[in-house]
Amino acid sequence: MSFTQIKTCLDILEKNPTIKNYIVQFNFNSSGFMYTVERDPYKNQINQQMNELLDDGSHSGASWGMMLRTIQAILNGVLPYEEFLDYYHIEQCENKQCDNEKCKKYSNTKI
Ligand SMILES: [Zn+2]
Repeated sequence: MSFTQIKTCLDILEKNPTIKNYIVQFNFNSSGFMYTVERDPYKNQINQQMNELLDDGSHSGASWGMMLRTIQAILNGVLPYEEFLDYYHIEQCENKQCDNEKCKKYSNTKI
C-alpha cells in the first residue's frame, strides 16, 4: 500500500459518492474490509463496485484492508487531509531542494 495508491482512490471516490459513502459508514469492525460479506444485496453490489474500482491488483489482503481503513480515516477526518497530503508529497518528492518543511526525504543531502 502506498500514499500514491490512496490518492488515486480518493480521486476516484470523488466521482463515485455512493461508494465513498459506503466506505465512510462501513463499520464491520471484526471482519473488516478484508472479510466482510454483505448480506444486503444492494450493499453487496456497492462492495463489489468498490473492489472493481479501487483494487489495482497489487494488494495482499492486509494491504487492501489497511488502504481502505486509511481512506476511511481520511474521509472521516480522523486523519486530516492536509496531513495525508504531506505524506503523499514526501512519497512523491524527488526535489532535492524541496522547501516543504515536513519533507525530510532528502534532508541529509541538503547543504
Ligand atoms: Zn518535498
